[in-house]
Amino acid sequence: MNKKLYVISGSSGVGKGTVIKGFLEKNPHFTLSISCTTRTPRPGEANGVNYFFLTKKEFQECIEQDKFLEWAEFAGNFYGTKQKYIHQCLEEGKNLILEIDTQGALQVKKRWPEAVLIFICPPSFEDLEKRLRGRHTEDESTIQKRLNEAKVELERAESFDYKIVNDDLEKAIKTLEDVINKEMADA
Ligand code: ADP
Ligand code: 5GP
Repeated sequence: MNKKLYVISGSSGVGKGTVIKGFLEKNPHFTLSISCTTRTPRPGEANGVNYFFLTKKEFQECIEQDKFLEWAEFAGNFYGTKQKYIHQCLEEGKNLILEIDTQGALQVKKRWPEAVLIFICPPSFEDLEKRLRGRHTEDESTIQKRLNEAKVELERAESFDYKIVNDDLEKAIKTLEDVINKEMADA
């Protein structure tokens, strides 16, 4: 069983979702892990597709029953990856990408040393703010919380295996492909 997990983090609005989508279109043999969250679905998001949407009570019960490989509170909501889900995907032979925050990424690395941690950086903090606002998915107070988290995330990124700057989108996708291909070849 392939035990390498590719964990991708980056400040909210940096474009990780966009980079990962581009990567998956070119690399359909990879699967994006579906996380659990207590946040409200955005328009167009569906349960079991983008996230497993849980109530705070359900999430709390999963924590108490040690069901998460990792979990974190991010900008006022809880997010986590179920251990059983990851094991099932790996047993099915899937190559998994986890798109999670830096707190979760560092927990994964502790419990799963084969995990490869990749951080997507913005060209500048100003670009990050522009992208986050340009997405029009969050209200002002949520944007402020996410920009504050962004500074802490950049500090935690120092412990990551790779950093990729998402300046030109196609270049960032290509760099991600190069990193993952190299790691697959080393496995
Ligand atoms: P994240 O998943 O990191 O929160 P998204 O993928 O939702 O971020 O991207 C946030 C916004 O930035 C989106 O509107 C997206 O189209 C835009 N974006 C992503 N990558 C780039 C890029 N390289 N240059 C300019 N805008 C980008
Ligand atoms: P969003 O609300 O924009 O979908 O995600 C907010 C943040 O939560 C992003 O940084 C995203 O990577 C992170 N996230 C999503 N799923 C998980 C998860 O399962 N665990 C952790 N720790 N973070 C997650």
